[in-house]
Amino acid sequence: MIQKLYSAQRVLMRFPSSAPEHQETLAQLQQEIPSAILAHFLRLVEQGSKGAAPVVRDVCSSCHMRIPSGAVGALRHPEDLVLCESCGAYLFVPEEELRAAPVSKPKVARRKKPVATAAAAGLLSSPPTVVALPDVAASSAQPSMRLAAH
Ligand SMILES: [Zn+2]
Repeated sequence: MIQKLYSAQRVLMRFPSSAPEHQETLAQLQQEIPSAILAHFLRLVEQGSKGAAPVVRDVCSSCHMRIPSGAVGALRHPEDLVLCESCGAYLFVPEEELRAAPVSKPKVARRKKPVATAAAAGLLSSPPTVVALPDVAASSAQPSMRLAAH
């Protein structure tokens, strides 16, 4: 049910309330979601915050507050409704998170820092001290031989 709210929330937040997409989604929710739950959800969405938020590694993805371990346990039962104590969003554990429960995954959303990356690359490529060894000098006859072949 929360998953349904979550996917609906994207539509509701994307389209203004006058848009047919918004109204259609709303009408669908009214049929499927108990009115008390829907009212709370819609209040949050109207405020511009998330009415339903996936929990990623025990953290509410809406307000980034840590979920108490008791609530995390309840989240494993999809029929239980768990509200974020901090922002009030309905919490749910995404399916892929449920499957890969104890494994720590690399974060999908990575912030690119082009400046920092360029600096790091510059550090790496700047001083590779080349020491001219005698045998290197000896084999340097090779390039000139190629030149002669041309
Ligand atoms: Zn929250």
